[in-house]
Amino acid sequence: MTQTPVQPGIMEIALYVSGESRLEGHAEVLKLSSNENPLGSSPAAQAAFRAAAGDLHRYPATDHAGLRAAIGEICGLDPDRIICGVGSDEVLQFVVQAFAGPGDEVITTEHGFSMYPILARMVGAVPVTVPEAERRVDVDAILAAVTDRTRVVFVANPANPTGTMLGADDLQRLVDGLPPQVLFVHDGAYTEFADGFDGGAGLVDRHPNVIMTRTFSKIHGLGGLRIGWGYAAREVIDVLNRIRQPFNLSNAQMAAAEAAIRDTAFTARCTDLNARMRDRMRQSLIQMGIGCDESFANFVLARFDSPDIAAAADAALRADGILVRRVGGYGLPAALRITVGDEAGVTRVLDCLGSFMASGD
Ligand code: PMP
Repeated sequence: MTQTPVQPGIMEIALYVSGESRLEGHAEVLKLSSNENPLGSSPAAQAAFRAAAGDLHRYPATDHAGLRAAIGEICGLDPDRIICGVGSDEVLQFVVQAFAGPGDEVITTEHGFSMYPILARMVGAVPVTVPEAERRVDVDAILAAVTDRTRVVFVANPANPTGTMLGADDLQRLVDGLPPQVLFVHDGAYTEFADGFDGGAGLVDRHPNVIMTRTFSKIHGLGGLRIGWGYAAREVIDVLNRIRQPFNLSNAQMAAAEAAIRDTAFTARCTDLNARMRDRMRQSLIQMGIGCDESFANFVLARFDSPDIAAAADAALRADGILVRRVGGYGLPAALRITVGDEAGVTRVLDCLGSFMASGD
């Protein structure tokens, strides 16, 4: 064992648990555990990825100019206020590295995304978890938890794993109530699934202490490639770029991401399918007697009467070769988070849960 002291906070980090992908005894698994895109990724993105193979000997552009221009064009944003990272996780990491340090506080919410406390501890900051109200982010609870040591507030909107969302008025109230030393991170990993929501770009434009983060992992189906981005005031982006490794994204990542965001027909097919299947799942679950809040993301949270029933439902799904996500680690031991699949996948998961509920197990 090394005698070199480990930095404060690091040994308190609970290792991130990702969605499972293998199930013993099942050669083929229906994987609904990681909010992946049931339609895969855009064929144009795949072609761009393959074409990038010819550039393997070339260092990638350090400024991501082509990708930022494409994001700016499609999303109607200023490319100079965009930063790209290895998944949105990396952009979130830049934020805590740049703006929080030992003893500072980072606010996250009761059922918030599990990376937030990990990132806070990584820099020796203290994660402060505030209660939610019935699985919804509670603006007043956040504002009440702010101290003069608070540096960052993380809210995913739509939230993972609850799928719930804060409306524009609540968001504005939250930002208005934060003191100027606090940076608000508006995590939009699931923005595109919330019909008509632009991810809160206007909020960023009106407030220098707000950053919006987005990902190519969900709507664009590029989770395996690791690309995300953030949009903030020029000064914030300038700070984050100083700690970014110059070659953090490869040629292949940038080429595929650029093609993906330009393939708006594919994106529209994905959001359309998701909206239809998400409605179908929610209605069916409720009919079966399973609790299900309205979801604005690409998954639903199925709530059972007890943790034991949720475990039994999970076991029934596994027996049928279906993997979903247990969310006890998110303070939701009686719930399962189920990714919205395609028509066949949704039928399969609903059939299995229907039999389970009818069997009275
Ligand atoms: N934020 C939230 C709320 C998420 O659920 C995820 C993915 N699990 C991420 C950020 C990170 O996604 P990625 O690093 O793949 O962009």
